[in-house]
Amino acid sequence: MKRTIATGLSIWKRRGFLWPFRLLKRAAVCRLRGIPRGLIAEPSQACHGCCAGCPTAVNPAMLEPGLLHRWLSASPAEPVTIHFNGKHSDPLASPLLKDLALAARKHSSMLSISTIGLGLAPGQESLPFDRWIFSLPASNEASWNEVRGNSRFGEALANIETVRQTGAAMVEVVLTLWRPSWRDGDEFRRLAAHRGWAHIHTAFGRYDPSGQHVGRVENLALEAPDCPYFLDAGGSVRLKRQSGGCPLAGCLFLDAKGILRPCPFTGDESPHIGEPSVDSWRTARKWTEQKNGRGYPACEWCP
Ligand code: SF4
Ligand code: SF4
Repeated sequence: MKRTIATGLSIWKRRGFLWPFRLLKRAAVCRLRGIPRGLIAEPSQACHGCCAGCPTAVNPAMLEPGLLHRWLSASPAEPVTIHFNGKHSDPLASPLLKDLALAARKHSSMLSISTIGLGLAPGQESLPFDRWIFSLPASNEASWNEVRGNSRFGEALANIETVRQTGAAMVEVVLTLWRPSWRDGDEFRRLAAHRGWAHIHTAFGRYDPSGQHVGRVENLALEAPDCPYFLDAGGSVRLKRQSGGCPLAGCLFLDAKGILRPCPFTGDESPHIGEPSVDSWRTARKWTEQKNGRGYPACEWCP
C-alpha cells in the first residue's frame, strides 16, 4: 500500500492537477464493465541480459505499436495502468519501445516498466514512463556474477543512474533474492542509501519450471528461512504456503506476439486469445474467477 501511495503522489506531481480525476474515471469504467484495470504488455521476446545458460531467442517477436493500439482501442474500458514487462525477455530489447510507450500512455493513466537494466539505448531513459522498476539479482559484483554468469553489475548501476538523472519518473530498485544473493539484503539497503535510491523493495525470485532461465531450481534461495519454496522428498519444487487468490487478479497480459493471456506465467495450455475485439476482452474478463481459484497449471508455483 505504501508503494502504491508513493507512486500515486509521484505521478500526480508530474501529470498535473486533473490526473487523479481521470484515473478515477477510468477505474470506475473498468469496474462497471468488469474489465481488469491493469494490462501487462511484453514489448519484446528478446533480452540483453546474456545470462549463462539462458538460450538466446531465435527471431524474437516484437510487439507492434499498431497491434497494441488495436487491442487498447477494442477494449470496452481502457486500463488504468499499463506495465511493460518481460517473460524470459526484457522490454529494453525492443527497438519499438518509444512508439509502444506513446501508444500505451495515450490509453492509460499510469505507465510503468520493469527491466533488468542492461542494454539501455541512448534516449530510452527519457521515454514517457511514470515509473521505472529496476530488478537487480544481487547487491554486489560477486553474487551478481554467480547468478547471471557475467560481470555487468556496474552497467546496471550506471543505467539506473542515467534514468534517475532525468528526474522525469519515479525510480524503484528491487533486489530479487536468489541462492547466491539471499544474504544481500543489508548490503542492498546500504547501497541504496549510498546511491540515494528512495524507493526499494526485496522479493524472492520466482521458480521457472522451464529450467532454462535464472529461475531454474539450482538458483532458488532455498536456504533462506523465508523463501516461499522447498524441495519435496522427490526433489520437486513446492510452495511452502498456497497464498489466497491470484496476485495479478486485476491484470491481463499481452505478449510480444499480441496474444492476450491471463498473466505472464501461463502458457498455451491455459486460455489465450489472438484477435483484438470487444468480444475478446469480454471473454478475458471471465478468466478472473479461474485465476483467483488458482486453476491454471502455472499457479502451482505462484507465491
Ligand atoms: S535469464 Fe532472464 S535476464 Fe538473463 S538473459 Fe535470460 S531472460 Fe534475460
Ligand atoms: S500463475 Fe496463477 S496465481 Fe499466479 S499470477 Fe498467474 S493466474 Fe495468478
